[in-house]
Amino acid sequence: MIDEFRGPVLVVVAHPDDIEAHCAGTVAQLVARGEDVSYVLVTSGNRGTDDPGVTAEEIAAQREDEQLAAARIVGVECVRFLRYDDSDLLFHMPQLRAELTSIIREMKPRTIITHDPYPGNGSRDSCAIYPDHTTQGLMTFQAAYLCSPGPLFYPDQLKRGLAPHRVEMLYLIMSDKPVTQGRDHPDMDDFFRRIAGELGDKGSCRLAEGFRRLPPT
Ligand SMILES: [Zn+2]
Repeated sequence: MIDEFRGPVLVVVAHPDDIEAHCAGTVAQLVARGEDVSYVLVTSGNRGTDDPGVTAEEIAAQREDEQLAAARIVGVECVRFLRYDDSDLLFHMPQLRAELTSIIREMKPRTIITHDPYPGNGSRDSCAIYPDHTTQGLMTFQAAYLCSPGPLFYPDQLKRGLAPHRVEMLYLIMSDKPVTQGRDHPDMDDFFRRIAGELGDKGSCRLAEGFRRLPPT
């Protein structure tokens, strides 16, 4: 499947750790292949802690640092933080949709990796229907396929010199298991290997990451 990914590739996710949990292996292979890959983090996970002694600003700074370090490991240099508040992404976010449209028109990705806005499977864990994930996926879907190619969407952006852009394919990550920063998981390595192994079984390989392919029509 990775042969189908066409660069430039833009990865848009809700929180620091979403990429590492679901698609960083794919990103590493794309970078190694010479593709241009960039990250957009819609929130900095500024409420992702159980510790009452830490502030939102402190946890956001820590998670941004961790995200930048993780990006460097797989060779991604361009990381943007939009800094919406963690867990406050609601169903309708016109400002976020406009912001994502502007980024897509600027960066001109052929491929976007993002959250599945409609996980739609009752057997999935609550992480899959977490509002940040579904809303961010929906806003990215609309920005990519509805707004970015349409010159009548956000004409102020065109006046700023941006041009309409058509994204060729969305690949949607599926949050099968709740994974979050902020707690110690002594068996984290085994946890991820087990998930990757289960996905690998479906694809007849040892370890894998899973995507749903969503074309524009
Ligand atoms: Zn997340």
